[in-house]
Amino acid sequence: MKLQSYDELKHSKYRLSLMLFLFLNVAVSLFCLIPFTDCPQTELSAPVVTITFLSTLTLFACFIRPKAKFPLLNAVALLLGALWAWHIYHRYHQVFLFDNHFLIISLLSVFFISAIALSDYLTAFCLHITPPVVTVLLLDNGQHLTMLLLTLSLPLIGFSLQHLMRRRVDHFTRRLMRQLYEEKETFSDLSMLDPLTGLYNRRGLKNRLDNILENHAGSHFVLLLDIDHFKAYNDNYGHAMGDQALARVSVAIRDAVRSRDVVVRYGGEEFLVLMTNVNASIAMKLAERIRQYVVDLEIPHRFNEKVSTHVTISAGIAPIFDDEFDQAVANADRALYVAKNQGRNTILAWEDLPKIVPVSSEAL
Ligand code: GH3
Ligand code: MG
Ligand code: MG
Repeated sequence: MKLQSYDELKHSKYRLSLMLFLFLNVAVSLFCLIPFTDCPQTELSAPVVTITFLSTLTLFACFIRPKAKFPLLNAVALLLGALWAWHIYHRYHQVFLFDNHFLIISLLSVFFISAIALSDYLTAFCLHITPPVVTVLLLDNGQHLTMLLLTLSLPLIGFSLQHLMRRRVDHFTRRLMRQLYEEKETFSDLSMLDPLTGLYNRRGLKNRLDNILENHAGSHFVLLLDIDHFKAYNDNYGHAMGDQALARVSVAIRDAVRSRDVVVRYGGEEFLVLMTNVNASIAMKLAERIRQYVVDLEIPHRFNEKVSTHVTISAGIAPIFDDEFDQAVANADRALYVAKNQGRNTILAWEDLPKIVPVSSEAL
């Protein structure tokens, strides 16, 4: 999971909390609109109607625009909190004669909504409960101060602590995600490189190739190189020296070509160079330069630094027609095969090979 999808997850949680908050406001406000027979002075309360209307409208907007980002939680929490405060003030004067628990019950209803929907959003939680709390404290005029303070402070302390813990978990998760993502990138890069030579391996080539063929319209060439008599070199000097020679040849190839060319360790002692946006004569010049750089290499003997060893390479080169990379490799391989047969330390272009003429049935 990327950081981006973690953010999407958080956003979807935010959206669900907003919708739950709106839904609870609709439910509680509808409950307040039910006329109770034991309360003779019940009349339609303007703030409650406004809460029902506003919440339903916003909830509807959230439903029909599921992708839209509404950073509304704090604003909506404050607005609805203010409307609930207005409702408490409005109703208090109608009911206080026969219901002396009205204030505490109203406060608990507001807390109920906040506690269920806004437990992860401390700011929205505070914005929603502050207007009703202030109103209730003013209306109560200090009569039930201890009970009200207890009702307020206990959930507030609990939520603050919970909020702090969640923030720590969130930071930790983010850090872990970033670290995992970076490590994944590193491993993915490493899996595309050959550890001995530091060149691309076949996987790296595939990765670069898709990008090059998609984005670079132009003529590209494949150069296939193979170290001559490398088995004999290994037999003479040992495998460790063979490894050293492979590393030196890799550096020589890399030095001889342009930075935009893709150099790949294609097999044991086989290399492939993908030359991009190049014409046939420059491609041939680059190939010749590689051959020369390799011939000039002085690979020191492991046990006697004064003694230099040498290797040569043979190569076949072929253009890529119509993005047919595999066909170009097959053509370059054929040219390489002929170059080996011509005595090695040679570069041959596929176009210069004698074409195989299909044998017609009449000639037989
Ligand atoms: P040719 O000129 O026809 O290419 O002859 P060659 O001896 O180079 O070809 P052959 O395919 O017979 O031998 C390739 C040798 O390359 C055999 C193998 O031991 C050696 N080789 C392949 N990969 C490595 C490697 O990673 N390290 C070392 N030291 N040798 C390797
Ligand atoms: Mg070979
Ligand atoms: Mg070889």
